[in-house]
Amino acid sequence: MPYKLLISLISFFVISNSFATPSQQIPQNCQSKRVKLQILGSRGPELLDGQASTGYLIWLDNKARVIVDAGPGSLQRFKQSKANFEDVDLILFSHFHVDHSNDFPAYIKGAFFTNRSKELDVLGPTGTKFVASAEQLVQRAIGSNGGLYPYLGDFADPKARSAFKIKTKNIQWSYKDLNSKEIYNKNGIRVTTVSTHHGPFPSQGYRVELAGCSISFTGDMSGRLGAMPDLAKNSDILVAHNAIPEDATGVPALLHMTPSYIGKMAQRANVKLLLLTHLMKRSLKSNKQNTALIKKYYKGKMLYPRDLDSFNP
Ligand SMILES: [Zn+2]
Repeated sequence: MPYKLLISLISFFVISNSFATPSQQIPQNCQSKRVKLQILGSRGPELLDGQASTGYLIWLDNKARVIVDAGPGSLQRFKQSKANFEDVDLILFSHFHVDHSNDFPAYIKGAFFTNRSKELDVLGPTGTKFVASAEQLVQRAIGSNGGLYPYLGDFADPKARSAFKIKTKNIQWSYKDLNSKEIYNKNGIRVTTVSTHHGPFPSQGYRVELAGCSISFTGDMSGRLGAMPDLAKNSDILVAHNAIPEDATGVPALLHMTPSYIGKMAQRANVKLLLLTHLMKRSLKSNKQNTALIKKYYKGKMLYPRDLDSFNP
């Protein structure tokens, strides 16, 4: 199917700029000092921005526990963060564009030189002919059968001997089922997810809860499925991607949310801190206007972090 036709078909099925009704969530007592969100990559795929592509790290009790996305350069920031990969339980992928996933095999190669023995959970959306699924990413990157780096295949093969295993699971992307789903609940970390609209590319938004705190991530999305504000309801931190200006048209507007959408979403979700990342030349050009548009709706604290900045919720 031609790319443009697929985009218009998917757009036809989704409701433009709608917001799902937020559900009530019990306010939690966030033990802020125990939790830290660190930015491993604050930008998108452009080459001259001086920052890494998308990646985030969640710390609990001074241990790095969750990585969200692994864009190019984010592994270098992980090294600079002094995090220990042995502590990481989970890698969440919002979707499988290059600027969100390309450092994955390098993490696994790096892990070979650690004392890691515990399982590594990897979760991400299902794929299409344009993008891999989580399971395909792992198999096509390091699978023993036809992977790009088959010498790392034992980590993903339950029958082979390796110091640790990667346990990968696809999250079923759907534009019909927009209820949030719990996809992970282990060792004090709970993750819920909703499907989001990112043109023809299956994409997931995440809410990570730990020590009574909640940190939500939009990933790349246009907002057209409308479930993200509900997922992010009362989050201590919401990380939202500001990849386009308000007057964007064409494919960028189909793939990404406008500043005013971000403002409405953050206001509706009643988040305590809004972090804007995945900035690109086109959105930076009208940064002042973007900020004003977001602030028109969202009155809380908002920041544009850079790589390695960190925040207690
Ligand atoms: Zn993307």
